[in-house]
Amino acid sequence: MKRKVMGKLLSLLLLLIATAGSAQDASKPRFPRFKMLAFYSETVEPPHVDFAHEAVAFFKDLTIGNGFVFDATSNMSDMNAEKLTGYDVVMMLNDVPRGEKQRQALEHYMKNGGAWWGFHVAAYNDRHTGWPWFLELLGGGVFWRNSWPAIPAKLTVDDPAHPVAKALPENFIAPSNEWYQWKPSPRENPKVKVLVSLSPENYPLGLKDIVPDGDLPVVWTNTDYRMIYFNMGHCRGAFHDATQNHLFINALRWLAEGDNQWQ
Ligand code: ZN
Repeated sequence: MKRKVMGKLLSLLLLLIATAGSAQDASKPRFPRFKMLAFYSETVEPPHVDFAHEAVAFFKDLTIGNGFVFDATSNMSDMNAEKLTGYDVVMMLNDVPRGEKQRQALEHYMKNGGAWWGFHVAAYNDRHTGWPWFLELLGGGVFWRNSWPAIPAKLTVDDPAHPVAKALPENFIAPSNEWYQWKPSPRENPKVKVLVSLSPENYPLGLKDIVPDGDLPVVWTNTDYRMIYFNMGHCRGAFHDATQNHLFINALRWLAEGDNQWQ
């Protein structure tokens, strides 16, 4: 009798080992599904630093249970080929690469299939920027004007069929933000897909600085690259809204998808 039980236990153990082995062989390792590296600065405009701190906490929390790796650095010299090679997604929370070497590292990374996620001021560029490739990545929009102070605004989902817009309502009120408008509007570029934009019902938008009218894309991709830009990220509270958080998580899944098979 005792031997019989031992025998059963042994076969169960063997079965478990075999199952674990075959599961491992059949698919990629479940951890990490992907690795993301966020760059931010501690020395920029204080509301942009506040946003970066909340963003780091938000994305770090999403790694619970070892789903993916989220690293953050405030050292922009980490923007180099060697460091970037290990990551599937590069996130710019409130800053941009400085100097030729860092700029070239990002360009090389993106031209070789890397993914870029930029927030708010990370896409700021004007006639002094002098980085034509970056303008190309963004879809050609140069900073034109902004609303002030940071206030909530009604957004419209432009492309409900896109994976990033999955299950979103047609409209939602986004948390406080400084809303940038671009010239020309990125929408004029046929390679750009605008996913979310400011509803014209908000106009005139602002109290001190007013955006009176015009097209104001908020979230878009350039289909030549694995990139997404979010004009969100001015101050605290960007992660306090369930709808907007849902949008962030959709974007994270879409950007990181690459070879991943989400089950
Ligand atoms: Zn701002």
